[in-house]
Amino acid sequence: MTATVMADPAKARVHYNEPMSRHTSWRVGGPADVWFKPRSRVELVEFLQRTDPATPVHWVGLGSNLLVRDGGIRGVVIATAGCLEHLRLTSDGLVEAEAGVPCTVVARHCARWGVGPAEFFAGSPGTVGGALTMNAGAFGGETWQHVVDVEVVNRRGEVTRRTPADYEVQYREVRGPRGEWFLSARFRFDAAQPTSMDGVRSLILQRQAKQPLGMPSCGSVFRNPPGDFAGRLIEAAGLKGFRRGGAQVSDKHANFIINTGKATAADIEDLIRHVQVTVAERHGVDLVTEVHVIGEPAAGERA
Ligand SMILES: Cc1cc2nc3c(=O)[nH]c(=O)nc-3n(C[C@H](O)[C@H](O)[C@H](O)COP(=O)(O)OP(=O)(O)OC[C@H]3O[C@@H](n4cnc5c(N)ncnc54)[C@H](O)[C@@H]3O)c2cc1C
Repeated sequence: MTATVMADPAKARVHYNEPMSRHTSWRVGGPADVWFKPRSRVELVEFLQRTDPATPVHWVGLGSNLLVRDGGIRGVVIATAGCLEHLRLTSDGLVEAEAGVPCTVVARHCARWGVGPAEFFAGSPGTVGGALTMNAGAFGGETWQHVVDVEVVNRRGEVTRRTPADYEVQYREVRGPRGEWFLSARFRFDAAQPTSMDGVRSLILQRQAKQPLGMPSCGSVFRNPPGDFAGRLIEAAGLKGFRRGGAQVSDKHANFIINTGKATAADIEDLIRHVQVTVAERHGVDLVTEVHVIGEPAAGERA
């Protein structure tokens, strides 16, 4: 354990050498030196203040867009899922959600409150924090179209509020001030376009027909290049069903890589590289990953 942290395991939920495979939707990933799940904002702020500033800190929501390498994560992982779960409709009609709230829960509550359109949130099996980081979107909607402001925290535990003007928001990518993480956001939805859970259910059924939703994956691995679809390019390169170890390009949807049971993160990363090289050779297109890759390779592996 290389990280220096000052958390009291008896008080907070701190695990040492926590396998990240338990916290990623691909079900792969080596151990995090320290895994910390705060029970309150106060506990989170105290933890950040007491952690050695030289210790790397990573934030993880539901791990549904994350490839953690097999050697694991040096430093601290702050896990928001299952905590930071406050969600409410404010008196001025904004939806306020903390970073750990699952996006599907936001969609459900928007339907109950009669505001929308928030169907797109039901398409992402992640948290609000992950959706803000990725500008998650589905069914024609995107997270940042609705952001009024966000609350962020830095390494010193200082909490500030920022507006979208502080961020460069693109397709599945958000750039903002470094060294800050999302604590919560306020969204503006419209009572004239209420979220329809029936609509969500039918869109999800359509997805089930096209995507391998029963297998461990991280959804779409690559961003769609301008004017085209990554899945179409991968399929046209003959890569549907192609395997590296336990990782396989899905037969059902070529932009999904599935863990067939015993994949390692190295299998998945090798397959990602193979897809990128093959698509560049066949189509002259450089596919960019949507998924974030973090951590160290296992001893003897190359990154
Ligand atoms: C089956 C399946 C289908 C999917 N479909 C879609 C889809 O339709 N549309 C779509 O956009 N995505 C989709 N995804 C991808 C994924 O669900 C989204 O990107 C989601 O927003 C990730 O949220 P998360 O909480 O899992 O983030 P994680 O995977 O835990 O983290 C992703 C990134 O966000 C950072 N992060 C997480 N929380 C915070 C925080 N509080 N502050 C700062 N940084 C943070 C992490 O450090 C990491 O860099 C799909 C994934 C799966 C498995």
